[in-house]
Amino acid sequence: MKEAIAQLPEGIRERLRQAGRLADESELDLYLVGGTVRDMLLGCARADIDLAVDGDGMGFASRLARRTEGRYTPHARFLTATVDLPEGNSLDVATARGETYERPGALPRVAPASMDVDLARRDFTINAMAVSLNARNFGNLVDPFNGRGDLRSRMVRILHDQSFIDDPTRLLRAIRFEQRLRFRLERETERRFREAVSGGVIGNLSGPRLLEQLRLICVEPDPWPVFNRLERLDTLKAIHPALASDDGLKTLVQEISRPGDLASSAYDGWWILYLVALFRPRREETLHGIVDRLKPNRRLRKAIEDMSRWSGVEQSVQSGRIDTPADFYRAVRTISEDTMLFLTLTHPDDAVRRRCETYYRHHRHTRLSIDGETLKELKIPEGPAYGQILDEVLSMKINGEIETAEEERRAARDLWSRRNRPES
Ligand code: ATP
Repeated sequence: MKEAIAQLPEGIRERLRQAGRLADESELDLYLVGGTVRDMLLGCARADIDLAVDGDGMGFASRLARRTEGRYTPHARFLTATVDLPEGNSLDVATARGETYERPGALPRVAPASMDVDLARRDFTINAMAVSLNARNFGNLVDPFNGRGDLRSRMVRILHDQSFIDDPTRLLRAIRFEQRLRFRLERETERRFREAVSGGVIGNLSGPRLLEQLRLICVEPDPWPVFNRLERLDTLKAIHPALASDDGLKTLVQEISRPGDLASSAYDGWWILYLVALFRPRREETLHGIVDRLKPNRRLRKAIEDMSRWSGVEQSVQSGRIDTPADFYRAVRTISEDTMLFLTLTHPDDAVRRRCETYYRHHRHTRLSIDGETLKELKIPEGPAYGQILDEVLSMKINGEIETAEEERRAARDLWSRRNRPES
């Protein structure tokens, strides 16, 4: 294990030694835990480092923040705290805990406990290892379930038979790790997996907990194999019957994964696009069923619902009722940015896709240089005409009939005088 620690960047290693010394002074046992140990043994770099203390983790984290001149952020509900180090890394410090489940699928009741108990409440053997950081045994691996052996044989294995029943989120976690790491479910684990799914345990999970697991799949570097495997294990249709077999999903996921220069680096809705691909409603009831089940946040709900609003727009585009770019702009401007990006990336009809793209890239950002003040300067009397004139000038700009601020002013003036010209 010492070799694995030796691979860490020198700065982090020194911080871990410093944390170990502080734990010694405080007479606490301190460990690296969970995914941090797994990834270190696999030689994968990761940004977040998880620590656990056999004792008061939050108190320890606060002292560690002072010692390192870092920033301390407590999360009291979870008995954890984050220390943001001055050089940019962060350490998540937890109090070692045990968990009890009052009923399958419920959130566990958490209470401080020893490190052995803490490792035994974890999901898979590969995630149930710890590495000591105290000076006397710095770098020693604690591995009560032979996680290291399973890492070598590339297997995801639960710690006990009830695991998926206690916490069905582990079903989705199992496949996420399996596919990310290119591991396999261990045989007995797969049997328990199938048994749990066919026994309906996913129904015990609340919508938001389930949705969070789906979100985590979507932020994997490659979500498709995860969805594909879940599909083959009948897990998608256990989430909602409408999510059963879907040949088009692979193509959609691939298209979304190749955004080119379409979205800015600040765009944070990729997971929404994957879920829209997964949920894209075939029928209204399906859509309502999914929304009822998963209780998505407002942004995701709007993106899903806007897919059915889009169907109406699409019909009008195809029948020619929506013709000019300005017509299109008006029809889609209240459709969510996520839905429009989804269509731009995935619409099967090239002409429609190009319309979506022009809107997404250019027209949705179009603003006028003139405003109400300009109309006042033009001596147009204030009133409802202002909104209408500005709207028409915007249409002309989107349609490419005018471009400059001066042309906008002229167009506004002409529109006003045309309105006031006596009917001949
Ligand atoms: P990732 O690389 O995706 O961040 P991770 O292993 O760090 O993976 P987290 O969700 O951050 O995963 O959880 C940290 C650790 O907490 C896990 O490694 C595991 O030991 C434990 N854990 C997380 N979720 C569960 C769960 N549902 N049941 C049991 N243990 C869990």
